[in-house]
Amino acid sequence: MKKLELYRKKRDFKKTPEPSGKKKAARGTKKKPPEAIFVIQKHAASHLHYDVRLEIDGVLKSWAVPKGPSLDPRIKRLAMPTEDHPMDYADFEGVIPAGNYGAGNVIIWDHGTYVNLCHEPRTKKVISASAGFRRGHVMFWLKGKKLQGGFVLTRRQAGDGDGRTPWFLFKVKDDAAQPKSDITAERPESVVSGATVESIAKKRRVRTWGSRRKK
Ligand code: MN
Repeated sequence: MKKLELYRKKRDFKKTPEPSGKKKAARGTKKKPPEAIFVIQKHAASHLHYDVRLEIDGVLKSWAVPKGPSLDPRIKRLAMPTEDHPMDYADFEGVIPAGNYGAGNVIIWDHGTYVNLCHEPRTKKVISASAGFRRGHVMFWLKGKKLQGGFVLTRRQAGDGDGRTPWFLFKVKDDAAQPKSDITAERPESVVSGATVESIAKKRRVRTWGSRRKK
């Protein structure tokens, strides 16, 4: 399957404000290559979930995490793999209208860059995030606004990588770990606009009225 084909197939870009992924975002400079990015979007679709996305191979590899991330290393969160998303999806926040795929409100719950920590299990030799993803074990150090430190996304062992095997997300035990904390409850807001999934619809409406008035 071609890159992002599944993403585009599921959506009608005349009806959803989500990006089609056709435009290439300029990132980094010649002297300073861009750091890999991550984004976590809180998505109030038919079932509330958090979409965890990591830049790997020029796209956003994506998992839907029903309960969202935790800073408590003892807590493993189910993470269902979903289709690759285009890089500019990292900036998307708003309302996917009723009748469209994934209809519901979306906020940017956290974002930033990450450092790849993937390695060979035996030799501990560093491997690329891309190679880690193919093996079903991605370890990364987040530099976000809410989340920092090491995290792991790992595919269930019996998994054959058919895209439907569940993965799990958990925090690595390090200085940024916060046992007993509940980050999704403590910080429900967007790191970009301050909106919640409940209030984002109102914000959008205000913006629409404003632009109409100018015409
Ligand atoms: Mn979603």
